[in-house]
Amino acid sequence: MGAVEGKIALVTGAARGIGRAIAEELAAEGADLVLCDLKAEWLSETAAAIQAKGRKAVCLPADVGNGESVDAAVAEAVKQCGRIDILVNNAGITKDTFLARMSEQDWDAVINVNLKGTFLFTKAVGKVMMKQRGGAIVNIASIIGLIGNAGQCNYAASKAGVIALTKSVAKELASRNVRANAVAPGFIDTKMTEVLADDIKKQMLALIPLGRFGQPRDVARVVVFLAGEQSAYLTGQVLTVAGGMAM
Ligand code: NAP
Repeated sequence: MGAVEGKIALVTGAARGIGRAIAEELAAEGADLVLCDLKAEWLSETAAAIQAKGRKAVCLPADVGNGESVDAAVAEAVKQCGRIDILVNNAGITKDTFLARMSEQDWDAVINVNLKGTFLFTKAVGKVMMKQRGGAIVNIASIIGLIGNAGQCNYAASKAGVIALTKSVAKELASRNVRANAVAPGFIDTKMTEVLADDIKKQMLALIPLGRFGQPRDVARVVVFLAGEQSAYLTGQVLTVAGGMAM
């Protein structure tokens, strides 16, 4: 029996990268999926991979930073699936530049998707989970939210906010058997990181004790653990998945 057998899991930003890997790993462990991204048609490859594993995939458009869009997606998910057992807040963006050059728009855009998006989905799905008297929320933060990074003031603040939000939600919803935990990935090979200059990548690699960049699946496996019964007594925790960076 899979770690999340028979559960319904909603994953945001599931079209590619870490979100897609999380959705596929949850399906491999027995869950049916609700996949959300800005456009439903971007989710077709992820959905096909999930169906190939014999699980169901419902594809819904949702802009995580927009309350109406989030509420509509969650209502449709409940209509089609009846419940939501697992929520993975994964959608995220970067707009990197040094503080002196960072525009108000760069700040707002990153906070809106990474932090407000996590709040909006957690609020909407949290209501469903509280009624069910059970659920697991997993938020994708970042190691940068713990240690900071030059050129990423907006991103670091958003991910530190996600960590604080996770702990507060864990305290608020624990009495209804709803758990909330966060994963803080280090450097993971995805479209988000492929844009970085080679010398930055070299500097990063030198800081990773395990000597390699992470793969989306490295994060996905930890998410499955936090989403399933194996972690039944964990809430409000942050697991760093970074090859030993920042111990
Ligand atoms: P990615 O490859 O850029 O994928 C992110 C996904 O989220 C994309 O499909 C993206 O759609 C979607 N998205 C963006 N804005 C959205 C919105 N407003 N509403 C709904 N979906 C939206 O990124 P990734 O590397 O897989 O990152 C996934 C998560 O892990 C993020 O929260 C990121 O901060 C975190 N993380 C990544 C790393 C890393 O090294 N890669 C490290 C630490 C944490 P588009 O195609 O429109 O962009």
